[in-house]
Amino acid sequence: MAKKKISRKIYGKLKGEYVQKSVKKRIEALFLDNIGKVLTREQIIKAATDPKTGRQPENWHQRLSELRTDDGYTILSWRNRGELKVQEYLMPHKRKRPGAGKRVRPTDSTWVAVLKRAEYSCEWKEGGLVCGLKDGDIDPVGGGRVKLTPDHKSPHSLNPDADPEDPEQWQVLCGRHQVTKKNYWDSSTGKLNTYAIVQFAPEMEKKRIFMFLLSYFGYTMSRDGRIRKKSK
Ligand SMILES: [Zn+2]
Repeated sequence: MAKKKISRKIYGKLKGEYVQKSVKKRIEALFLDNIGKVLTREQIIKAATDPKTGRQPENWHQRLSELRTDDGYTILSWRNRGELKVQEYLMPHKRKRPGAGKRVRPTDSTWVAVLKRAEYSCEWKEGGLVCGLKDGDIDPVGGGRVKLTPDHKSPHSLNPDADPEDPEQWQVLCGRHQVTKKNYWDSSTGKLNTYAIVQFAPEMEKKRIFMFLLSYFGYTMSRDGRIRKKSK
């Protein structure tokens, strides 16, 4: 039996040119113009493009995630809504979660101390390697220019009163690793966000996982890449 669809899928439109000062503000304006409608990746990039220089934003996805986490907007994707495809997004209403974005930040002098300790580079460690990207570098993985920001080492949910004066509680992260860190834990359930881990894994790891899943679900791949269900 086919599941009844709750809402009809209506696609949004760009309403003129978006001339707000920042990428985030332009994306916000586009969503507010299209409450309850589906917006595609292409539309978001178009609206977010710098109206003066015509430059396409490098980190639009990060700005989108800030609208959720810092501004408290609800923005749905295929992960929350079955009828949405990958790269489609929907803001169902314009209400903001109260209290969003009230994150503790280190004081200016603490941040300087943290930056010094980190030698002004991202401190994310993975497989024994430190990221090491510096402010203004081009991120070789995510593309775009690196902006270093403070990260509270233990999750805010566990320690909301992080000491803004204590450099030990903070680390320096690049934008990509800020997102990676958030995605490692599903904040509502405390579980690992398996999908995000796979998404951020290096290509070789993805291949291994892909082959594992094929075999797990009973498929085989021939040399020319054709996938077939194993007959029992
Ligand atoms: Zn990094």
